Amino acid sequence: MSNLDRHPATRELGGLEATSAGPALDLLPGKEVLLGESTRVRRLLPTLGRRLVGAWAFVDHYGPDDVAAGAGMQVAPHPHTGLQTVSWLLEGEVHHRDSLGSDIRFGPGELALMTAGHGIAHAEQSPHPHPPFLHGAQLWVALPDASRETAPAFEHHATLPGWTSDGLTTTVLMGSFGGATSPGTAYTPLVGVDLAVAAGADVEVPLEPDFEYGLLASSGSATVEGAPLERSAMLYLGTGRRSLRLTAAEASRLLLLGGEPFEEHLVMWWNFVGRSGEEIVDYAEQWNGESERFGTVVGYDGERLEAPPLPPVRLKARGRQR
Ligand code: MN
Repeated sequence: MSNLDRHPATRELGGLEATSAGPALDLLPGKEVLLGESTRVRRLLPTLGRRLVGAWAFVDHYGPDDVAAGAGMQVAPHPHTGLQTVSWLLEGEVHHRDSLGSDIRFGPGELALMTAGHGIAHAEQSPHPHPPFLHGAQLWVALPDASRETAPAFEHHATLPGWTSDGLTTTVLMGSFGGATSPGTAYTPLVGVDLAVAAGADVEVPLEPDFEYGLLASSGSATVEGAPLERSAMLYLGTGRRSLRLTAAEASRLLLLGGEPFEEHLVMWWNFVGRSGEEIVDYAEQWNGESERFGTVVGYDGERLEAPPLPPVRLKARGRQR
């Protein structure tokens, strides 16, 4: 998916000022955002109070939406820079096309990982015909300065590693978790893992004390170290934890995102991550000018998304502000 907001806010991200020095249990209720004309998503990151969890810079949770009678997801070609997109479905199917010539469909349990690096363009659509429900998460990972100009790449991993213990089934999207390591390319120490928790389960999962974490309830609900986590909300867990206790009264799916706190200061606007306002303006002008930087999405029949008008403020990375 894309940030389809026609008046996107400028976000200054990064720096260690807002990273918790120890465990936290801060509820991030998320905010409903309208994408395009009909798709509603819950945006968990960035929010007013928190903008990054490790290198995870953007978290949208959408669905389950009944798309049986409609076109479903229809996101026209748009660009990205300086980030990776991590697409994760619980239900449905998405057809991804990009300016590298990638042309794949992915479904639940599969990882679609796009590294924008220097620049890429892609489109995402529900295929026709498509399954009746669409439910998933769109995640962005900020690239560190040393890797942000890397050549664009797309990876599709149809099977992912994971493990099962009593009442818990894990699927590792990114990084390593409990001895299982995702094949997805990562550029900073981070982890993304889907936790399928059985009804009545009481489990303890291992964490890295140097990482900060957020936990999203994609479906169902859970109790996390005694704190309630309702569907489509996120708990910021801070740092300094070696394990996390989860109980669930109903079968639930949780998305655990974590990583080393991201020290560099970033500017995020629309679908771009850069280091300064000047860079962001360049990216937007290059996209609207059909620069070769982003290439052309092969096989997409329709108009591209134009970059929205830039906000009338200087876009400068100042660190993570509240
Ligand atoms: Mn996108």
